Amino acid sequence: MDCLFCKIAAGEIPCTKVFENEKVLAFRDIDPQAPFHVLLIPKEHVASAAEINGQNSTIVAHIFEVAAQIAKEHNLQGGFRLVTNSGADAGQTVGHLHFHMLAGRTLAWPPG
Ligand code: AMP
Ligand code: ZN
Repeated sequence: MDCLFCKIAAGEIPCTKVFENEKVLAFRDIDPQAPFHVLLIPKEHVASAAEINGQNSTIVAHIFEVAAQIAKEHNLQGGFRLVTNSGADAGQTVGHLHFHMLAGRTLAWPPG
């Protein structure tokens, strides 16, 4: 499968790693939208949040645990936003589930 984030997870395309374990990889977004902008992905391919089901949903909880750990390690006391874009209308451009972790500035709400 020709999937950019599968290739990053496999180490075939380089990234700036922030965290890695057997299930999850976190790395810096190549086009940061905030002073801190990290992507958290499952190593196993899941296309988007729309593909989460009873068989694969534990990875989402695991990713949120990792995000909380990253927030502590990077001293994000001011807060952070954890968001996933699912599908074209939401602006998803990479078809492998990923959570944007944004911090380091005040973030507007609602998003545009
Ligand atoms: P989305 O638009 O929600 O699908 O998010 C995809 C994100 O992946 C964007 O924020 C891109 O800047 C980011 N991105 C694309 N290619 C790379 C890459 N090679 N390394 C790191 N981040 C990337
Ligand atoms: Zn993939």
